[in-house]
Amino acid sequence: MDKQKAANQIKALVELLNQYGYEYYVLDQPSVPDAEYDEKLRELSQLEQEYPELKVDDSPTQRVGGKPLDAFKKVQHNVPMLSLGNAFNEQDLRDFAKRASGGTDEPITFVCELKIDGLAISLTYENGKFVRGATRGDGTTGEDITNNLKTIRSIPLSIKEKGTLEVRGEAFMPHKSFLALNEAREEKEEEPFANPRNAAAGSLRQLDPKIAAKRNLDIFLYGVGEWDGSPISTHSERLEQLKQLGFKTNPEWRKCTNIDEVIEYVTYWTEERPNLSYEIDGIVVKVDDLNQQEELGYTAKSPRWAIAYKFPAEEAITKLREIELSI
Ligand code: NAD
Repeated sequence: MDKQKAANQIKALVELLNQYGYEYYVLDQPSVPDAEYDEKLRELSQLEQEYPELKVDDSPTQRVGGKPLDAFKKVQHNVPMLSLGNAFNEQDLRDFAKRASGGTDEPITFVCELKIDGLAISLTYENGKFVRGATRGDGTTGEDITNNLKTIRSIPLSIKEKGTLEVRGEAFMPHKSFLALNEAREEKEEEPFANPRNAAAGSLRQLDPKIAAKRNLDIFLYGVGEWDGSPISTHSERLEQLKQLGFKTNPEWRKCTNIDEVIEYVTYWTEERPNLSYEIDGIVVKVDDLNQQEELGYTAKSPRWAIAYKFPAEEAITKLREIELSI
């Protein structure tokens, strides 16, 4: 492709993907399946790699999420809430492991977690009290949805830890709640939600907390933002620590001492995920050692010490149909 053609194609893809991003992140109403969005994003990313001088600031390859809605009070994330790089096959995972070890044979321990298909949330505690809950928004500014989050029963309103603690995780809608909600909407001749992710986001980004309260949402916590608390040295310790503090963590995480074990975990959950009571769209692989994480650092959009393996799209659709049929 010549440079002029590439410039036109980049412009068209940025415009299209930003429109899709707006529908997905701001309106919670995607007009195309995620796989289509991901494919176009990959096309754009390849063109930008070939012609780095044509990269534009508002490219979705450089930005996290979408703009927060004006209807909500804004919350600044002092530690940015980033996205994750993607892996679509075994080779991508092996390449990630190689990058993580800096191309050496240095052994790296990874933590594998289920990638919950919901929306990223930040919960702030001050002197043991839950004071603020926010969406990721564009990564630096999120929406204050404290009152909606208070309706999720698994979020503790007080914890033993004093000082300021910001925990992060994924709020989601379990399959059972999602199917009941869509059934009720169809009865009322209202548009059903496209998937549990959009239903969860649509429920939490409402001004009236009574709506979220009726939607039976849940949350898994998997990380921290700001915390002046006890020093720990690994992500796996972090998960244990969050659990000890009374936060709901996903029990299925596993420590893997090499990439073959990571691939085993991915293969296992590719088969097993229809048996979960909530939607996952992949596996998140994280470097366990926090010093190694720090050395690897971040790109503008995502940490270099983690990657999200995405399940093939076809299966997601088939699985939801299977669940619908079995209920
Ligand atoms: P992402 O979903 O690929 O990955 C990052 C997110 O994973 C984090 O922000 C966090 O919320 C989540 N996550 C879930 N479990 C986690 C765990 N255990 N540990 C860490 N993080 C975990 O990135 P993104 O930027 O949020 O969104 C991109 C996704 O949105 C893609 O799947 C894309 O297809 C979809 N999308 C779709 C459309 C559309 O029009 N259909 C538009 C925009 C984006």
